Amino acid sequence: MNVRKKVDFLIAGCGYAGSVAARQLADAGKKVLVVDRREHIAGNAYDYHDENGVLVHKYGPHIFHTNSQRIFEFLSQFTQWRDYQHRVQAVVEGQQLPFPINIETINRLYGHSFSEPAEMMDFFEKVREQRDPIRSSEDTVVNAVGMDLYEKFFKNYTLKQWGIHPSELDASVASRIPYRTDDEDRYFTDKFQGMPLYGYTKMFEAILDSPNIEVRLGESFKDTLNSVNPEHIIYTGSIDSYFDNCFGKLPYRSLRFEHEHHKELDQFQTVGTVNYPNDHAYTRITEFKHLTGQQCQGTSIVKEYPTDKGEPYYPVPTSDNAELFKQYNVLAKKQTDVTFLGRLAQYRYYNMDQVVGAALKAASRLLEN
Ligand code: FAD
Ligand code: UDP
Repeated sequence: MNVRKKVDFLIAGCGYAGSVAARQLADAGKKVLVVDRREHIAGNAYDYHDENGVLVHKYGPHIFHTNSQRIFEFLSQFTQWRDYQHRVQAVVEGQQLPFPINIETINRLYGHSFSEPAEMMDFFEKVREQRDPIRSSEDTVVNAVGMDLYEKFFKNYTLKQWGIHPSELDASVASRIPYRTDDEDRYFTDKFQGMPLYGYTKMFEAILDSPNIEVRLGESFKDTLNSVNPEHIIYTGSIDSYFDNCFGKLPYRSLRFEHEHHKELDQFQTVGTVNYPNDHAYTRITEFKHLTGQQCQGTSIVKEYPTDKGEPYYPVPTSDNAELFKQYNVLAKKQTDVTFLGRLAQYRYYNMDQVVGAALKAASRLLEN
């Protein structure tokens, strides 16, 4: 007779959502089994040394940033940090310009010589086109900085990244990008920002290092259910596939990552990431040595090619998709023995810190019950 092994929690997915929840539950004495269908831990934050010895991020560039002291302190139990401030430039009309748009971007693009924030504010006031209400990503950008900057920096990047027009995409997507009126050239200005000193995978190894946690890789959780009998399940995969796509497929945007090594170059580009809004099929190139500070011969980069096919990476924030997600969420709420957690299961455009926050909250709630 096949007696299924009893565990307190079965967690599907070994990214931030699954691993952080696992650790909190394990520290409270619960027996936790975490499974991932991939052959590695850390979900989309997974990093590894490529064949040339360069530490690279398999699923594109990950820079940790948060304003939450609690979230930063939680992760700091498992890693030390390398202080790193991410900088991004965008190639527009042959110039490589600071992005988000700042005073240098405007001066170099239009030949101005602004030096004061008040001059930038006047400039934005002159070029912006008021939109009311602000519903779409197009509305957000045009309302803030007008049509010309929208067309130079946002329109084509967004079309490429999402495969849909910015007028169809929720305002929250372009709202991730600020507009500077000074010479601030960092991509993020959160209170805490950096890279795990020895990489994300090492940090995840430490998070999962508990006698109450078992990790199984290369296994889909539906197969695990044949041999395991959990009190409760935490599911961090895509919500539509949990329900066998019963209302139709929920769109997720994917990327194809093209990794390259340049052994003859010490540095490929001057900043961590260069965006190409109007040229090439890829959106951006990231050079990892900027992020990690690694000193070595040669350099490794990744190009991101957006696509509909392949692994799900981004929920696609449109009103139709929000409606479809709601239908799945009604089913999810009825599954009282399953918690849906993370970017794919909650269909939210979460950053890493937000997933950590959501996982800490979910674990506390489960421990109260
Ligand atoms: P994931 O990391 O996707 O983990 C889910 C795991 O579940 C996966 O490993 C998957 O294999 C597994 N799984 C799914 N279904 C099953 C199943 N049926 N059975 C078993 N396992 C299953 N955030 C930042 O804060 N800063 C950044 O700079 C940043 N850059 C990013 C760049 C890119 C290109 C992308 C795509 C994302 C970026 N993010 C960034 C966001 C960050 O990756 C996510 O917020 C975070 O990784 C989400 O964690 P998660 O646990 O919800 O999901
Ligand atoms: N964006 C853009 N041009 C850029 C960078 C970003 O139009 O040069 C828009 C685009 O719609 C993108 C969104 O802003 O999807 C959010 O950008 P972010 O860098 O936060 O995306 P992520 O790192 O999550 O892929």
